[in-house]
Amino acid sequence: MPLIAATWSFARDGCAEAVKPLLAGGSALDAVCAVAGAAERDPRVDSVGYGGLPDATGRVTLDACVMVSPGKCGAVCAVARHLAATDLARMVMERTRHVMLAGSGADEFATALGMPECDLLAPEARAAWERWRIGDASVRQADPGRDFGVPLAPEVGERRFDHDTIGALALDASGSLAGACSTAGMAYKLAGRVGDSPIPGHGLYVDPEVGGAVATGVGEIVMGVCGTFLAVESMRRGASPQDAIAEVLGRIDHQFTLEAHQQVGLIVVTRDGRLSSGAIRPGFAVTVADGAGVRVEPPQFVLYPEWTGAAG
Ligand code: ASP
Repeated sequence: MPLIAATWSFARDGCAEAVKPLLAGGSALDAVCAVAGAAERDPRVDSVGYGGLPDATGRVTLDACVMVSPGKCGAVCAVARHLAATDLARMVMERTRHVMLAGSGADEFATALGMPECDLLAPEARAAWERWRIGDASVRQADPGRDFGVPLAPEVGERRFDHDTIGALALDASGSLAGACSTAGMAYKLAGRVGDSPIPGHGLYVDPEVGGAVATGVGEIVMGVCGTFLAVESMRRGASPQDAIAEVLGRIDHQFTLEAHQQVGLIVVTRDGRLSSGAIRPGFAVTVADGAGVRVEPPQFVLYPEWTGAAG
């Protein structure tokens, strides 16, 4: 039964490592933190942790969230001086009576915990930002960090966008669910912008009585419908995982005038290990790791399969 499902193929290495202790009886929370932490440390991933593309002023800020139940979650946003945003969110959950710490307070909390400080702006990310700043149109195309070298999974139709959160859900051998997500947010966002990823019910929601959901894509349109909360509530009312995803994407479609370049990807895992995934348009990919190995899959549901043009 233990399994991990994570957004995008860049979760492959992290899932391959994290699934081993999970299969040996490790906890779902450790597994999702390991998956997110691996992406944070990978300089090739231009949307998470070190290597993440900065905001419009050239500053990298990180948002992250962990959740095991409505009463047990932790988050940080606008972290500017510490890499391990997911571990920090976990510390907020485990060591404080709060849910979220923001900005300098989050960095100070990390420093007080003895977490190492670092410059989050990788040379490749700085170079991409400098090209963007002087109006190099190629930087705005579908894959603004394409020089960083993170491999795609073209065999499942994966495409890159200028924003990609690592989001992971795991179920362990004892039947516990956990979720984590971590992001540098949208490339070249306005300074101070925070998206859906660190907010319980928006980028991530886990209710052990039902299941969990995690989102990636344009945070503003996920936030408008409380996307992951809606997915879990839909399953609570009896929807199948796939119908729950279709309900969230349909609600987004109803509430917003979607543009053909916009993307949202969702993954849900039920408390009994059923998995589904979906996206607004083609290009999303899901990494799954379990006793049968690690594989990258296309989403099971795509709202607008004909929207195959450039994203960004
Ligand atoms: N959802 C993230 C945000 O809006 C970005 C992403 O997942 O691509 O910050």
